[in-house]
Amino acid sequence: MTFFEDQLKEGVFQICYCKNCNDTIWPPKEICHKCHNRTDWKKSTNLGKIMEFSKRESTYFGLIEIDDGIRVLGDILSSSIPEIGQSVRMSVSFNSKPHYSFLVENN
Ligand SMILES: [Zn+2]
Repeated sequence: MTFFEDQLKEGVFQICYCKNCNDTIWPPKEICHKCHNRTDWKKSTNLGKIMEFSKRESTYFGLIEIDDGIRVLGDILSSSIPEIGQSVRMSVSFNSKPHYSFLVENN
């Protein structure tokens, strides 16, 4: 299990970046593809915005943009129809693969 996955399991989304290039690296890698430095980690704010969404049976899911323009797919938890650009708070877990869910903030 990688550091990233292990942290997801703890409920923490770690952002991989290169201190040298000041670039975010997504998906995470141990080595920066530009300068070949070892990459570093910082915790996500867990805040994001809905870029796109859709409905599957009774659940909403969509593409969410979080820190530094990282985009992830996940479930959207909302009591009403979500909107593009709406603020969401991310929860993460890991159970054989990453799972992301997003709670709409303002309702
Ligand atoms: Zn670099």
